[in-house]
Amino acid sequence: MSTVMIHPATYATVQPAVAKAFALFPLDLKGKNVLIKPNLLRGSAPEEGVVTHPAVLRAVVDQVERMGPAVIVVGDNPGLFGYGANEACFKQTGLMEAAKGYYRNIGNDSRGVAFNPQYLPQVSLSQAVLDADVIISLPKFKTHGLTVVTGAIKNSYGLLPGAQKAKLHKAAGSPQRFQELVVEVFALRVPDLFIMDAIVGMEGNGPASPDLRHIGLILASDNAVAMDAVVAHMMGCEPERLPFLQKARQIGLGDFDLGKIQIEGHLSRIPDFKLPAMGGTAIASNRAVQEFLHSKTILRPKADPALCTACGTCVEQCPVDALSMNEDIPQVDADTCITCFCCQEMCPEKAIALQ
Ligand code: SF4
Ligand code: SF4
Repeated sequence: MSTVMIHPATYATVQPAVAKAFALFPLDLKGKNVLIKPNLLRGSAPEEGVVTHPAVLRAVVDQVERMGPAVIVVGDNPGLFGYGANEACFKQTGLMEAAKGYYRNIGNDSRGVAFNPQYLPQVSLSQAVLDADVIISLPKFKTHGLTVVTGAIKNSYGLLPGAQKAKLHKAAGSPQRFQELVVEVFALRVPDLFIMDAIVGMEGNGPASPDLRHIGLILASDNAVAMDAVVAHMMGCEPERLPFLQKARQIGLGDFDLGKIQIEGHLSRIPDFKLPAMGGTAIASNRAVQEFLHSKTILRPKADPALCTACGTCVEQCPVDALSMNEDIPQVDADTCITCFCCQEMCPEKAIALQ
């Protein structure tokens, strides 16, 4: 039976919750290569709630230092084409300082590994991932238009550096297949411990929604399926209806049945939690229904002229070239768009809404 810890915390008092997580899920870190992976997306201020808060990373680094000596690396691969933006993302989010000198651009060094040829026969994993004896994943409590929950499993999508994330979005081609693909990426190297920043969470049309929600919790587990099942339940979504959890259980990564998960703390639903507008399509009962609903209820990205600075980032990041600049505002070709939401994630002005 898997265990999920649910512990009250604030960003000013996060250390006891982190210490309890390591006590509940003990790891031998002495002399080990330890990779700590926060959840980055793009350069953003900590108060935007888009990435793991620096206070959580700092508390985890402090704890790992105490449990060492270990060879610590803090890294992630934010964005789609953002090789050059890795360091800038860490600096802007405050995670560079929180990493206490252990930051490394893990996107600079990678190695090919076999993948599912349905999508791509091979993907690159950061060498730091392959070298790690222990991986500690620090997901954020957030919604996602394609997966409903972006938590412990989805955080591992960032183990892939660079443009292949966009290629995989394109190869998936539908929300259902994208959910299955995310699980296959996760399974390439399952992290050893998950500590989730659920102090300030995100609801609505994540993963870059302006709708933040104070939750006041740190979650922890050594099983990502159990953790994401608990998160789904808290959000008001039955875990068994999420295709990525179904896929994860099918390939033996864990169980989403709440009756088989031991809760260390208090589990309750968050009242009136706003799921993504497209969440209904992602949690429909079967694949055909999902694809049908997706085609009927599809949202498209639309730039707000009052916020857009015509920087062109979204146009560059779109994996299928569905965006083009027209009179200094990006326009979407609805037939080409695969609703991956990468443009919304990457827009530095939060100018893209889903309509
Ligand atoms: S990324 Fe945002 S600000 Fe830049 S062009 Fe696109 S919508 Fe405009
Ligand atoms: S327009 Fe936006 S949502 Fe559509 S495919 Fe391009 S990046 Fe994805």
